[in-house]
Amino acid sequence: MKLCEFLRPASLSAARDNLRELGTKGMILAGGTALHFMQDHTPVTAVDITRLGLSYIRPDGNFYRIGATTPLSDIQRYRAPRWAMHEICRRISTHQIRNVSTIGGNICRVFPWADLPVVLLAMNARMVVYSDHENEYSADEYFATQPAKRFLDGNILTSVKVPALQAHHGFGSVKVSRTTAAFSMVTIAAVLELDGSIIQSARIAAGSAIPFPRRLPNVEAALVGKEAVSEVFKEASTKAARDVPWRSCEGQSPEYSQHLAEVSILDALERAATFAHGRAE
Ligand SMILES: Cc1cc2nc3c(=O)[nH]c(=O)nc-3n(C[C@H](O)[C@H](O)[C@H](O)COP(=O)(O)OP(=O)(O)OC[C@H]3O[C@@H](n4cnc5c(N)ncnc54)[C@H](O)[C@@H]3O)c2cc1C
Repeated sequence: MKLCEFLRPASLSAARDNLRELGTKGMILAGGTALHFMQDHTPVTAVDITRLGLSYIRPDGNFYRIGATTPLSDIQRYRAPRWAMHEICRRISTHQIRNVSTIGGNICRVFPWADLPVVLLAMNARMVVYSDHENEYSADEYFATQPAKRFLDGNILTSVKVPALQAHHGFGSVKVSRTTAAFSMVTIAAVLELDGSIIQSARIAAGSAIPFPRRLPNVEAALVGKEAVSEVFKEASTKAARDVPWRSCEGQSPEYSQHLAEVSILDALERAATFAHGRAE
């Protein structure tokens, strides 16, 4: 994109109106870090949404609500009971990028290496989108296709609602990269709901080594009703091969991607079980 003009509307409705008037000649600007990856040189007017009061994290009933323009570094620093979003944020790129990159920017146009969609799918988060009124989408609906398609006619993501994990919930995430700031070779996130040592439900998601972030239903099915122990986790992780076509990325072969995914799923599940037991004590 080639930014030719810059608007800073004073309200959400003004931003929406600006975007509707501009049509394909306008684009929402949050942290602006993704421009680097958008190679086409179409001239556009940027509509800056970073001063609309959408940068916050607060408890909201059974959720934590994160405003769309909240920088990743704020999410990384936030601490509260049953909060786990900081874990993946500290693994995204560098401090400098995290200071400007926003949660909205990360999930409104999903790049293959995006880490937050993976975690939000596992956590069963809800996305709030403003047009004439606010609509809420489950993570499964929202990430069913490239979300950028949702934001063509002036719609704006306003917040993300992350369910507060309960005492019997466990969360684990794993991001494998060659260096601290490198793109992910595979990212896995897992949420287990336990009844004692038995797994009541499981949400496992993957990204980077597959074409688009998604859940792994065969892995999930291999966990439900079983004991939360390493042998079960190991057996479940081998089902990842049935779930998705693992692809070559970051210089690795599809076979290596699949191997890395299986090892990472096992690791994420062990972490989730430890997290749940820690909560229960
Ligand atoms: C060198 C580098 C390495 C990176 N590595 C990683 C990594 O390993 N893992 C990872 O997850 N991320 C990584 N990122 C960040 C990621 O690639 C994106 O650049 C970033 O998440 C975009 O956030 P932003 O706030 O800068 O969005 P912007 O660049 O401002 O916007 C991105 C897109 O989303 C749209 N948009 C933004 N906010 C909204 C909204 N509220 N409603 C509707 N549409 C909106 C914009 O119009 C645009 O199309 C990296 C970035 C860089 C520069």
